[in-house]
Amino acid sequence: MFYKPCLGKRIAITLQILFMEIQEIVSKQKEFFKTQQTKNIRFRKMYLEKLRDLIVENENLLYEAIDKDFGKSKFDTFTTEISFILNDIKYYLKNLSSFSKPKKVSTNLVNQFGKSRIHSEPLGNILVIGAWNYPYQLSLSPIIAALAAGNCCILKPSEIAENTMKIMVKIINENFPPEYLYAYEGGIDETTELLKLKFNKIFFTGSTKVGKIVYKAAAENLTPVTLELGGKSPAIITKEANLEVAAKRIIWGKFINAGQTCVAPDYLLIEESVQEQFLEMLRKYIQEFRYEQNSDHYTRIINQKNFERLIKLINKDKIYFGGDFNAENLYIEPTVLANINWNDEVMQEEIFGPILPVISFTNFNITLNEILEYEKPLAAYLFTNNSEEKDNFTQKLSFGGGCINDVMMHLGNENLPFGGVGNSGIGNYHGRFGFETFSHQKAILERATWGEPNIKYPPYSEKKLSWIKRFM
Ligand code: NAD
Repeated sequence: MFYKPCLGKRIAITLQILFMEIQEIVSKQKEFFKTQQTKNIRFRKMYLEKLRDLIVENENLLYEAIDKDFGKSKFDTFTTEISFILNDIKYYLKNLSSFSKPKKVSTNLVNQFGKSRIHSEPLGNILVIGAWNYPYQLSLSPIIAALAAGNCCILKPSEIAENTMKIMVKIINENFPPEYLYAYEGGIDETTELLKLKFNKIFFTGSTKVGKIVYKAAAENLTPVTLELGGKSPAIITKEANLEVAAKRIIWGKFINAGQTCVAPDYLLIEESVQEQFLEMLRKYIQEFRYEQNSDHYTRIINQKNFERLIKLINKDKIYFGGDFNAENLYIEPTVLANINWNDEVMQEEIFGPILPVISFTNFNITLNEILEYEKPLAAYLFTNNSEEKDNFTQKLSFGGGCINDVMMHLGNENLPFGGVGNSGIGNYHGRFGFETFSHQKAILERATWGEPNIKYPPYSEKKLSWIKRFM
């Protein structure tokens, strides 16, 4: 009789085999990095161009996969994912040569006669762990920055958006040498094993809870991390705001991707005197933008688990607008909750869905203090035309990044760093910051071999010390 392992054991054996494969690929990437090939600028550009061409060639497959995962429209996928990735590639193709050049810096008196410079060198072997809500952008943008900086990479996209994960794995693994770039398909078990391996950097996007698991695992190997996490991002609207513009921009930012956006305004703080007028404007734009069940531009909730979590947050007694949902197609209507206070359940966790709680206030500075009681958010937004309010908001609150008189658009400027602070993350990327995130800044001082004063060498004397004091 043959020995037939039980299901649990078979899963464990399969995992073990998969893990041995990935272990081998990581070892090959380490060997490949040592060949110095990835430091060659032409090599980096060649593969970035290849990735760009593959994205363009496979654009329709990318749209199909994301539509299957959570009904995201072609328009939103292009504007919030594909265009981002293509712009990133274009940006690095243009700038990576200059970013990679050693930068001369001045040399101080004690180091004369010498020259000082900083070399940006690739870190080596990178692990990128992606989130599901913008699956292409959040997986490929860090990969593009890491390759531009001259590294080898393993990508672990999120298994929650299964179709987008599979298409990325297919495109990458069929077209890139695994010793340079490899995409690894897997969930929690596979990621747990992967995190036991030694990398030169781990770049993680996801929840604060899992961010802590990643940080702990990285600490075992003293691996540096960039953690792109979440939080409750407020949007404040004062009576000095252009209310019409504020309402339109907030509705777009909150309900794009059905609120499943890390930098979406999580909740609103509205000055009481304009609250009613503003709530009416919110209603007007939700209706105008037609986020209906039969609309093909309104994204669905990613899965049953999140759907159930979200509908529990809809307090029926506080619905100002919306509140409808359909479990069959994971639709939740854009929902505005009014008369909310800080103790309501919806204010206790990041919402990450199409529910918008509204709290009213009478004193702007007290409201800022209340926000300070929360963990530092990934983003914060202020709508006002009052410069004192703008200054107080910028100086008093600590958050990853944000906008005045808009939401989320700061992400679209590659000259601004993108990342959190405190509970919303560690480190940043985008543009030049992405290149630096995946580089080590190596300091080099080159000394002349002439003009060597004896002053720093023993035997010491009072006279030497008095000269040293003058120099230093
Ligand atoms: P998540 O933390 O559940 O998952 C992220 C990744 O971690 C996935 O690839 C998943 O496979 C892996 N993972 C999950 N559990 C794990 C475990 N126990 N051990 C090891 N790996 C594990 O997050 P999510 O649901 O994909 O994304 C939602 C969260 O991410 C929200 O909090 C959101 O704000 C945040 N987010 C942040 C950004 C940003 O740029 N700062 C962007 C998107 C999402």
